[in-house]
Amino acid sequence: MTTPSLTTTADLHDLGVTGLLAALRDRRVSAVEAAGHFLGRARAHQALGTFVAIDEEATLLQARAADAAIAAGTAGALAGLPVAHKDLFVTRDFPTSAGSRILAGYRSPFDATVVARLAEAGAVTLGKLSLDEFAMGSANENVAVAPVGFVAPAPVRNPWATDRVPGGSSGGSAAAVAARLVPAATGTDTGGSIRQPAAFCGITGIKPTYGRISRYGMVAFASSLDQAGPLARSAQDCALLLSVLAGPDPDRDSTSLDLAAEDFGRQLNDDIAGLRIGVPREFFGEGLAPGVRAAVDAALKEYEKLGARLVPVSLPRTELAIPVYYVLAPAEASSNLSRFDGVKFGHRAARYTDLVDMYKKTRSEGFGDEVKRRIMIGTYVLSHGYYDAYYLQAQKIRRLIADDFQSSFQDCDIIAGPVAPTVAWKIGERADDPLANYLADIFTLPASLAGLPGMSVPAGFGEDGLPVGLQLIGNYFSEARLLNAAHGFQQATDHHVYAPGTRVTGATS
Ligand code: GLN
Repeated sequence: MTTPSLTTTADLHDLGVTGLLAALRDRRVSAVEAAGHFLGRARAHQALGTFVAIDEEATLLQARAADAAIAAGTAGALAGLPVAHKDLFVTRDFPTSAGSRILAGYRSPFDATVVARLAEAGAVTLGKLSLDEFAMGSANENVAVAPVGFVAPAPVRNPWATDRVPGGSSGGSAAAVAARLVPAATGTDTGGSIRQPAAFCGITGIKPTYGRISRYGMVAFASSLDQAGPLARSAQDCALLLSVLAGPDPDRDSTSLDLAAEDFGRQLNDDIAGLRIGVPREFFGEGLAPGVRAAVDAALKEYEKLGARLVPVSLPRTELAIPVYYVLAPAEASSNLSRFDGVKFGHRAARYTDLVDMYKKTRSEGFGDEVKRRIMIGTYVLSHGYYDAYYLQAQKIRRLIADDFQSSFQDCDIIAGPVAPTVAWKIGERADDPLANYLADIFTLPASLAGLPGMSVPAGFGEDGLPVGLQLIGNYFSEARLLNAAHGFQQATDHHVYAPGTRVTGATS
């Protein structure tokens, strides 16, 4: 039996993870053909600045292995699926920069668990994706590495409007998926870095419960918050990837949860009728852009039509999440980044007088401004005499923020609200204003501090016709339920289906 090859059709990239896997399984397309198609797209759209490393040989080698496995009947769940990794995950086949000059020329001797798990399932790595340096940022403008095709560092561009930021810090991942340069990508979320770029780029992303996915081989930013997750176009696609990514890694990451891997798609088609959706008052205050509010309100109405019940809840310490996070995350970062000293990895200053001078010059040259700012803040809040006033205080409020969620979950099953107060802003507009960037994290930080799973689901379009994300937050370990709520919504709406440039503009919601 021969089935027609799909490679000549221009829309291979429109299939998404689920559709592409079916085509690979039915041998309508080979892994080598799929990899070639997406590599071609990455090349054609390199002006977006999404990829920071591509190695066609390495990719095709993986694709050939996937084809062999498919032919031998030994293929894993994702055999032949092209994926790309945020350049915060270390990889043997590609260099790893973490978006920083300090890791220039670094190549890891091992793969991160995230990378290894996807590879074991047969996924084929297309390359590494741009990010804010060490995942610090909300706009993917803190980039110190030249993207593929560029001679100097450049920010990632939002495929919906190329003068706009894609969000951050997983901006390369979100923009690449939105532009159909790859069906799915990995990201990391410390304070919103999966959810916010997914929202700005009109795609779906999930940050699971803290500890669901191993942090082994993920360059550390703030270890008590860092969590990996997939970005794709639909909840169904995210569920497939999450099922491969999650699971304990006890020998390598002591904070990985001792919970067996699950099929996170098992509840996708459950009825949403009766679902109690908590709507936190504090997520709808002043500062929420009218177009974002309108799209989120419309999404909530859609849920009511599907039989869900909206329940007003309160997360009274939402505003405190910003100062708390911007004490704790820099504190942890200042400690984590001490390992970059010019001795063990990457860049070392060319000229120095003694060891301390070498450290100083290496770090001055290697780190960008935002990273230095956080190292200084972190070192300050951890210093003797200030520890109690800042770090300890922040830890206490962090606990209260988590408690607020638990009180809300007495009355509801999931919580819904906006991912971010606005749509994507213009490149450069907030580049010199760190505080404006920090404030944009207000709705994503609370779930991060509490360690709760959160998603961004395309909810339509707001100001200037740009995508808006609906945030869904669940209680610990409720990823399957979150994905079910997102899938139900996506079955009833088509916001997640549009590709940049294909939607007729003019309508603003
Ligand atoms: N925008 C936040 C920050 O700059 C969150 C980043 C992240 O989640 N990695 O720290």
